[in-house]
Amino acid sequence: MRGNRRHGEVQRGEDMSKLKIRPLSCGRFLAAEKSNFTYGVDPGVKIAAPILMWFIEGARHRILVDTGLSDPQWAARYHHPVECKAHEGPVNAIKMLGLAPDDIDLVVNTHLHWDHSFNNDLFLKAKILVQEEEIRYAMAPLPCHALYYESQIIGMTPSWLKALPRMEIIAGEKEIEPGIALIPLPGHTPGFQGVLVDLDSGPCLIAGDTTPLWENWEGTSQGFHIPPGIHVNLRDCYESFGKMEAIADMVLPGHDPRVLGKEVYE
Ligand SMILES: [Zn+2]
Repeated sequence: MRGNRRHGEVQRGEDMSKLKIRPLSCGRFLAAEKSNFTYGVDPGVKIAAPILMWFIEGARHRILVDTGLSDPQWAARYHHPVECKAHEGPVNAIKMLGLAPDDIDLVVNTHLHWDHSFNNDLFLKAKILVQEEEIRYAMAPLPCHALYYESQIIGMTPSWLKALPRMEIIAGEKEIEPGIALIPLPGHTPGFQGVLVDLDSGPCLIAGDTTPLWENWEGTSQGFHIPPGIHVNLRDCYESFGKMEAIADMVLPGHDPRVLGKEVYE
């Protein structure tokens, strides 16, 4: 642990192995509307954007953060065209780490949008950690958010419901194990949670769609962070940014291609 302990940080024993974060690709949106990521910035601009999962290495449990999206056919039919290469997707990506789905002990869903929770049911031995507020909203979202949840209110069956019996409902901040904590960060969705991991380089937040791109975090020329274009509450977005500044030395965004430029964050 470097420097002073701060809110959300936890002490780890000397004997424990170092925590690391590996970003894993589930494929990429071929032409995502950029302003869905950066609110009010670059409307009409299309970008390629990966769909990410994260594996936390060196922990007591085998922890996967998010479970990716559907197959490309489903994605193109209901959402966006995506490309998924042979080494990508939830099963193939963890296979590269020498793991099979049954090896995963804990799945954390940052939120229950279709591109972050579609494959929860593949991880049969895992407990699935979700914030209570997120489940509540996912059951009855506003119409403009219904497709993101593949909600029953538009006649779809949310994929996350298939793993409902294994879900553990979390209410607020929770330390999963030394050095790893769930941090509620509402705004993009009501029950969004980031995962704060105590790396050698300092506390690192898997921030996901609070900041879809690093540009959201780097902010405007006036020095303000940029909220995600898809959100339920802008005030919450800004309050979550304040919390993120207080607890994290580094944030890892949800859909930024540059994240995959590094194999491991440590
Ligand atoms: Zn997303």
